[in-house]
Amino acid sequence: MKKPVYLDYAATTPVDPAVAEEMIKYLTPDGFYGNPASRSHGFGWQAEAAVEAARSQVANLIHADPREIVWTSGATESDNLAIKGAVAGRENAHVITSTIEHKAVVDTCKWLESRGIEVTWLEPASDGVVLPEQVFEALKPETVLVSLMLVNNELGCVTDIATIGAELRNRGVLFHVDAAQAAGKLPVDVTVMPVDLMSLSGHKVYGPKGVGALYVRRSPDVRIEAQIHGGGHERGMRSGTLPTHQIVGMGKAFAISQAGLADEIEQLESLRAGFLDGLKGLSGVTLNGSETSRVPGIINLSFEGVDAESLMLGLRHLAVSSGSACASATTEPSYVLRGIGLSDELAHRALRFSIGRFTTAEEMAFASAQIVDVVTRLRAVR
Ligand SMILES: *Cc1c(COP(=O)(O)O)cnc(C)c1O
Repeated sequence: MKKPVYLDYAATTPVDPAVAEEMIKYLTPDGFYGNPASRSHGFGWQAEAAVEAARSQVANLIHADPREIVWTSGATESDNLAIKGAVAGRENAHVITSTIEHKAVVDTCKWLESRGIEVTWLEPASDGVVLPEQVFEALKPETVLVSLMLVNNELGCVTDIATIGAELRNRGVLFHVDAAQAAGKLPVDVTVMPVDLMSLSGHKVYGPKGVGALYVRRSPDVRIEAQIHGGGHERGMRSGTLPTHQIVGMGKAFAISQAGLADEIEQLESLRAGFLDGLKGLSGVTLNGSETSRVPGIINLSFEGVDAESLMLGLRHLAVSSGSACASATTEPSYVLRGIGLSDELAHRALRFSIGRFTTAEEMAFASAQIVDVVTRLRAVR
């Protein structure tokens, strides 16, 4: 059977073949397999040099200093390290976040709440955007940290990080930004975005799964408490033997993304436009999330009179995602869609189509034709 069209790039991306080719050089007996922490021989030095080259590549994409990059196992760990590490040791701390953050932030903040830390949960407007004024109004003298995502993984909408960060810098409040869906999708520049901590992931940017990074600003100097101890790697912030091949892969992936960023954005905008154009003949289709403040690769649509589960069954030639997290017998509608004020009914009618580097115009034309066909059929038998 022909493979379905992959329209779930926001969940993960395939590894770019050029990245895989680079990674394999750091695994086998004929390659550079040394432990980057081994200081007494060339195997270690070579591995260390590769890790440091990758550190520069990741830093370059966000215009950071390589010394500000801490390797982790992914954005989930980066979020945990940033939030727990920033709040650690502070008794009467107050934290601000939003209801539509990734689970890695939501669950970490809930854990803080269970430990007696006060958390304010901001509710975004119906377009999914958290406004700077909302953040400023929630600030208290005890606020130590604000954590907001740059690009939402279900809606693709973009937060005004620069405006929020500037005010937080004035107030001396730490600012953590989850940029897992933003790096390689829009320009990210920490020299103009006053962010203190930023989470990055390898596998959302055509790198391997299981590797990520946390940007930790050096000026002004940001201090976080380590969450994993043992050996003092990464300047004491994150111990554990560095996975050279994963790190090299993430570095290469970020370098490729940086070189092709403008072209890739243009390509995705064009694919998105063609896809939406192909759905024009279909009535009762609404775009969830902001139409203007967004990245092109994520398209979240609700289809009137059709529930997402039936639609997905009908769209078996497309690999897409519904926002719903299936919990045993009942399917809970996505907390992100409910977080922007969608009724359960509307949230149950939403599907996320996410596209990327290897998506073709033919695939998009096929996808929109399939959707028109299946939605029309489902509506007819209602
Ligand atoms: C995927 C994702 C994460 C988790 O990243 P992992 O590297 O898979 O742990 C965190 N935040 C956002 C916004 C994501 O899209």
